[in-house]
Amino acid sequence: VVVVRRILRDPFTGDEVILASERVVERRPRPAPDLLPAGCPFCPGNESHTRPTIRAIEREGAWVARAFANKWPALVVEEALGTWEEGPYTVTSGTGAHEVIVEAPEHAPLHQLPLERTEDALRLAVARLSDLRGDRRLQVLQWFRNHGVGAGASQPHPHSQVMGLPLVPRRIRAYADCARAWQDRTGGSLLRAVIEAERRDGRRILVDGEHLLAVSAPAPRHPYEVWFLPTDPRPALEEASEATLGALASAMHRVSRALVAAHGEVPLTAVALSAPHQEDPRGIGWQVRLSPRLSAGAGLEEATGLTVHSVAPERAAEVLRATVPP
Ligand SMILES: [Zn+2]
Repeated sequence: VVVVRRILRDPFTGDEVILASERVVERRPRPAPDLLPAGCPFCPGNESHTRPTIRAIEREGAWVARAFANKWPALVVEEALGTWEEGPYTVTSGTGAHEVIVEAPEHAPLHQLPLERTEDALRLAVARLSDLRGDRRLQVLQWFRNHGVGAGASQPHPHSQVMGLPLVPRRIRAYADCARAWQDRTGGSLLRAVIEAERRDGRRILVDGEHLLAVSAPAPRHPYEVWFLPTDPRPALEEASEATLGALASAMHRVSRALVAAHGEVPLTAVALSAPHQEDPRGIGWQVRLSPRLSAGAGLEEATGLTVHSVAPERAAEVLRATVPP
């Protein structure tokens, strides 16, 4: 079987797509919400069913979080880096990193587990991102978590993923450009300006701490989306201080519990947005976004990138504040 692994750019819109032919549905494990822990490759005792451990965090002699290469990688470090033109088409080799982080030994959603699990899972993600910075071929280091079959998770055991991309995708380019444009216009940090605006307004705040603000997204792409904004802006998640990481873990844990209390066990996605790490990071700060997936996208989103929904961020904040556990 010839494996095709490429990053293709849509010549009309600039959207990128990763093509990884071995990720065909038939060869990936079927989502199995009722899969017993005994058959789960991410449960303790089944480590031989995954790629070897790259790094782990251990407590009392056993791992509590474990990182390893994805068995069905979208990108691979072994592939030589290249970008070429084929007429109107730009193609980049499928070069990059794609790792899985099992976030707890328990076969249960992170928000049902003690906060320490979320803290250790984030610590391990940061350690992997820091390590991948050494690979000069990578432009963007991406952390994300899909929780629940509706959010694209193929395994119910709590896990996140880390990817190193050999190019700057269009949306990350826009993220960096918005922050730089604000800096050029005002001389200040966009992240700080948003934090100040949210604190002045107050209606969307869910968690307000020394190190981190969690707000019902003022421009939510998805209903009930929540933004986690560090008060000490640094370019990338892996540069966060230990205190900020602790605050992030605590806020994500609280907000996830509130979302589940409000909507039941909905699929959740969490993503970190960071500066492209090979560029001047001036003015760009990382943040994390958490979204429940209550509805699927449709034609308008497909055509324009616009989403449309009916939940005002202030209303979402009221609902979540009523259900955030103390
Ligand atoms: Zn499991």
